[in-house]
Amino acid sequence: MAKPPRAAPVRIVFLGGLGEIGRNCACVEVDGRIIVLDVGIMFPEPDMPGVDLVLPELSYLRENADRVDAVVLTHGHEDHTGGLAYLLRDLRVPIYGSELSLGLARNRVEEAGLGDRATWIPVADGERRRIGPCDVEFIPVTHSVPNAFALAFHTPQGIVMHSGDFKIDLQPVDGRRTDLSRIGELAEDPGIRLLLSDSTNAEEQGYTLSESTVGATLRRVFIARPGRRFIVACFASHIHRIQQVIDAAVASGRRVATLGRSMGKNVELARSLGILTVPDGVLFDIDEIDRFSPGEICVISTGSQGEPMSALSLMATGDNKRLQIEPDDVVVISAHPIPGNEWSVGRVIDELHRRGAEVVHSGAEAVHVSGHARQGELRTLISVAKPDSFIPVHGEFRHLVHHAELAREMDVPSDQVLLCEDGDTVRLDEKGLQRDGTVPAGYLYVDGTVGDVGHGVLRDRRLLAEEGVVMVVATVDLQEGELGGMPQIATKGWVHAPEAEALLEEASKVVADALTQAMIDGARDVESLSRHARKALGRLVGERTRRRPMIVPVIIEV
Ligand SMILES: [Zn+2]
Ligand SMILES: [Zn+2]
Repeated sequence: MAKPPRAAPVRIVFLGGLGEIGRNCACVEVDGRIIVLDVGIMFPEPDMPGVDLVLPELSYLRENADRVDAVVLTHGHEDHTGGLAYLLRDLRVPIYGSELSLGLARNRVEEAGLGDRATWIPVADGERRRIGPCDVEFIPVTHSVPNAFALAFHTPQGIVMHSGDFKIDLQPVDGRRTDLSRIGELAEDPGIRLLLSDSTNAEEQGYTLSESTVGATLRRVFIARPGRRFIVACFASHIHRIQQVIDAAVASGRRVATLGRSMGKNVELARSLGILTVPDGVLFDIDEIDRFSPGEICVISTGSQGEPMSALSLMATGDNKRLQIEPDDVVVISAHPIPGNEWSVGRVIDELHRRGAEVVHSGAEAVHVSGHARQGELRTLISVAKPDSFIPVHGEFRHLVHHAELAREMDVPSDQVLLCEDGDTVRLDEKGLQRDGTVPAGYLYVDGTVGDVGHGVLRDRRLLAEEGVVMVVATVDLQEGELGGMPQIATKGWVHAPEAEALLEEASKVVADALTQAMIDGARDVESLSRHARKALGRLVGERTRRRPMIVPVIIEV
């Protein structure tokens, strides 16, 4: 495709989301100016004990803060917006997105007390706006949260298109379809140079079912169980799912209460934006639940992912002060566990059964469909967009590999399909798409309000969790070169106490001998004595128990 000579190249920097589901974040750079595309979080994996959430490393953005013109949001999910509260500590930038995306993102930012640091700029479907160095066009797509966008960046190198998270739902609940015709127009004129596309379901054949099919199933499930109380758990941002739950509840003569903070907030937000329609008199406060008989009640709750402190998990363990599960209750889990959450969800389902509830989940009834495109839809997008080059985004590594393969099958030239990972940088110019180095893009672990707990801390936590700790405290007189009594040994999580007594005594003696010998050999500083204590104790522990607990020597000078 002919381009004017020497137009400014476009650089794309991937800061997260390529190699994991979550913490999606990228930069589109034109003429040295940066537009940030989403700033998401990831939920911790089982090998990250005590970590609340994981962020993209933001050092690249911090170091280049003066070049950042704006953040654009594809949609309101936390894996795309949850990191804003952290970014805004360092940067004061305008944030563009649909009104709903901004509303959802805003909650977390305001909770962090950073509400005054952001300028929220709502954009409408199909709007094209000058943002920093280029025009950005916001193209409607269907997804598991309403009012999601694909983004078309009109750059000096032509169109760079990002699909956002999408599916091609031909019967969406709100009638707002993925705007394939606009993408087709752009493909004809001026043409799409580069397509970045959602890889989440790239391993799945066929097409993702329409969201509206869930409504039909819910209706059937409700009608088949008259006289019984319903509790339905789903994502609090899935407004169309909530709409369909409410519709099914109303159709079976029920009223609806929300449970869980984000559920109540989001229902209110969506109603105020006219995205959620609830007939008058249907909503009631959960504290008034006793006024109604079981057959008149539907509770919509958070906790579909088995999150330990969520409303549903607390119900399952009998710890929810607002609602206790009764043996005749029907609990519908209208979601699919995201990778890593299967175990927690399974545990919640088990506990609900223990309380006598009937549990209807996506394994048994079609009470959930995905918000992401499968292979058929991914092919459709490529064939409509006809991109010159392609990069799969948003997925675990294997999803990216499958999506790249699919793009080649769809005749995108093989050398113009790049498989990128977090930290990779690419450059688009007259010659095409090529790699352009890397930037730091590690994981940033957040625990409580502490910024980054770091790899070292996590390694220690894993070791403590798996092997326990053995601590030795020894007092020494460095002048005289002698011990001030027998070293004290304390342990947690290493060996069972009664059997340990002889072992602890032996350990104390081994450390005492090692320290005495070291001082005879001339050691006179705390550091080298610590080393000797650690070595002697570590050897004994290894020999006697075949374990490798954390060894912590504490040498006290008298
Ligand atoms: Zn999403
Ligand atoms: Zn996502």
